[in-house]
Amino acid sequence: MGDVHTDLVLERRKTMTSSTLTPPEQIASSTLDVRIHHVPRTRTLPSAAELGFGRIFTDHMFAMEYEEGRGWFDARILPYGPIPIDPGASCLHYGQAMFDGCKAFRSKQGRIQLFRGRRHAARLADGAPRLGMVAPSAETIYQAMTALVHFEKDWVPSEPGTALYLRPTLVGTEGFLGVRPSKKYLFFIILSPVGAYYKDGLKPVRIWVEKDLIRAAKGGLGAVKAGANYAASLFAATEAQKRGYAQVLWLDALEHRYCEEVGVMNLFVQFKDEIVTAPLGGTILAGVTRDSVITLLRDWGYKVSERRYAFDEIVEARKNGTLGEVFGTGTAAVISPVGEFGHEGGVLKTSDDAIGPLTQRLYSSLTAIQYGEAEDPYGWVEEVTGVA
Ligand SMILES: *Cc1c(COP(=O)(O)O)cnc(C)c1O
Repeated sequence: MGDVHTDLVLERRKTMTSSTLTPPEQIASSTLDVRIHHVPRTRTLPSAAELGFGRIFTDHMFAMEYEEGRGWFDARILPYGPIPIDPGASCLHYGQAMFDGCKAFRSKQGRIQLFRGRRHAARLADGAPRLGMVAPSAETIYQAMTALVHFEKDWVPSEPGTALYLRPTLVGTEGFLGVRPSKKYLFFIILSPVGAYYKDGLKPVRIWVEKDLIRAAKGGLGAVKAGANYAASLFAATEAQKRGYAQVLWLDALEHRYCEEVGVMNLFVQFKDEIVTAPLGGTILAGVTRDSVITLLRDWGYKVSERRYAFDEIVEARKNGTLGEVFGTGTAAVISPVGEFGHEGGVLKTSDDAIGPLTQRLYSSLTAIQYGEAEDPYGWVEEVTGVA
């Protein structure tokens, strides 16, 4: 059986042809005609035990291109595989590259639901200008995400804790070595079935307090999911791992005192009856999990403060017995309890390896909403039903 080519029209508008050029915004916001190049599956779907994080990819990917003066074009679902790229492309030389990450879950009833997909799409679209990049509209990104997930729905695993991870990515592709924003972009989405982050229940992680290296400075790229931020973090993380720590606690770039994030997660610390997380001041990535956790906590009657707090405040609270639970938040792990901070002055144990009741409640409540086991009063899950 040969490959099958079909056309999937997501909105009721005519396919754009090169003779009917439309301003980029119009193309991006009002049409998403997806050409489909289908390949029959030749592998068996992985078992839950084989799933890690981001090692296995599904059969197909989504791609579309941008050129200045032409706008976005050639939206397509095509076989997963290498992408040809000009060796002079701006993403390879000047770091015009960013991404997002979110998950689709399979409910017990077999429904496929995307968790806060529109918010993830908007974050990618909104972040692009900071890197001098042109992104498709949030609506186009969202439509592309749901179209691809629906097309690959067999790949959404069903075992508890598993999900289909979406990685929408935007890169500059113009072959030109002059230093200015690329006039060509590629937007693509790849999908990866992922396993339960904590296979045997939540487990506290050890975090190294990084005193010298920084992740993001005010006025920099910290608020954008830029690949460059990850490159900036890898050396410190590797050094921490050599010391036996899972990740680093990033402190502010100026004074190296204030807590910002843990690895690639937002950080929450409970001081007595106040739960604190760093404010979104340009150096913090506005996590969707962070926002979800703040919403749940406030609904449960907790006082949540988005304020600066020094690592010394944690040390002090530990001394006088007012330190409560400490956890990171992010799409991959959802909630990640911090059991210990290692720093030059010694080791600070936050818990005796027991998972705090608040950490557990947040994890259980968020995942229950994601898997459709609990009511979703916030409109966070959107069922992926494909095109009628
Ligand atoms: C992606 C990311 C997070 C978590 O964001 P979510 O939307 O919750 O997944 C936190 N910090 C950094 C630096 C990130 O890149």
